[in-house]
Amino acid sequence: MDSLNIRHHFPIFKEHSDMIYFDNAATTQKPKYVIDAISNFYTHHNFNVHRSVYTDAGETTEMFEQSRKNIVSFINASSAKEIVFSAGTTDSINLIANGYYAKHIKAGDEIVVSIAEHHSNLLPWQKIAKNNGATLKFIPLNEDANLDLNAAKQIISDKTKLVAVTAVSNVLGNINPIDQLTTLAHEHGADILVDGAQAAPELPIDVQETPIDWLAFSGHKMMAPTGIGVLYGKQDLLENMDSPRVGGEMIESVSTTDYKVKDIPYRLEAGTPNIEGVIGLDAAISYLKELKMTNVQAQCEKLGQYLYDQLNALDGVSVYGPTKRQTGIVSFNVDNIHPHDAATFLDSKNIDVRAGQHCAEPLTHKLGVNATLRASLYIYNTIEECNRLVDCINEMKEFFN
Ligand code: PLP
Repeated sequence: MDSLNIRHHFPIFKEHSDMIYFDNAATTQKPKYVIDAISNFYTHHNFNVHRSVYTDAGETTEMFEQSRKNIVSFINASSAKEIVFSAGTTDSINLIANGYYAKHIKAGDEIVVSIAEHHSNLLPWQKIAKNNGATLKFIPLNEDANLDLNAAKQIISDKTKLVAVTAVSNVLGNINPIDQLTTLAHEHGADILVDGAQAAPELPIDVQETPIDWLAFSGHKMMAPTGIGVLYGKQDLLENMDSPRVGGEMIESVSTTDYKVKDIPYRLEAGTPNIEGVIGLDAAISYLKELKMTNVQAQCEKLGQYLYDQLNALDGVSVYGPTKRQTGIVSFNVDNIHPHDAATFLDSKNIDVRAGQHCAEPLTHKLGVNATLRASLYIYNTIEECNRLVDCINEMKEFFN
């Protein structure tokens, strides 16, 4: 994959030609293909969906439903009924928690997460556990900073009702063994939910090959607009999920006292949806399919490993996570320089990195630090940009010491 060629597809890199954008785990840049698809929608197809009989609205509804089918093949779901549009990963997980587990988790049940979860895949389960009298258990990391599968085997039991884990840590960048966790969860009669926020942009996903029960991901981390996301659920689970929001378009009929809902997925999508977002997500997924997810993964892994190795070779720099890199996410600290000062210094060199706890406070504490720097690389980043970051870190060490 040729990053330099890919960069030409992204108008922002023309506008900010000196910028080194290393904050892709927060949000990715958008290719012209996606921007044009949104512009085309507003210029030619700005009609509401699933409501009107006139031709224009019918065409927009078809474009909207085409996006759902594109997602079905992107993650190899069994049918379009299993794809619910949401506002993003956080929204999807909250919908699952409030619409399904709020009524299925009972006192004495256990929910298992990992210590490396983003708050979006932690707080909803803390809330359900508290409200329903269940216990929240944590799978720790092993010495290599990977999820400790042996510990998981001890923790997941017949009391477990749900295992909710991220496929890729947004801090450590490692890929969790979702295959084994799925087998383990199912052996104990538990469901498994996968937070795919960082996986969907970088890795091929096949929900039939690895038969997870739920998957959540965000469009904006995979080159689509903000405010759109996907909730995948196995059909039988979605059919048993309450409609977390009620209102227009999710109903068959309404009387003054009651209503009858539509079938899934529509009864889970009340109100006018984010049509622009769905169209943009469709374009982003088509763009990724064109690049091929195996190539995307290889490129992110190559860049992540290169940057990890370069940073790891520097004196006074601690890099977190496994030595064998699998994604483009690399978190680190520079001795005696607060991550916020470091990020400010790097900003003065036109390098955008994130500093903080990355919405994973329990993990940050486990790492024994208050905060880290995070460089998260994507398909349009280059080895030259990694070298520039390393040079600037060397400059920074001199500047501060
Ligand atoms: N889960 C992980 C692993 C993430 O990295 C993020 C965002 O950084 C989220 C969940 C939340 O995503 P969103 O803010 O798009 O809902």
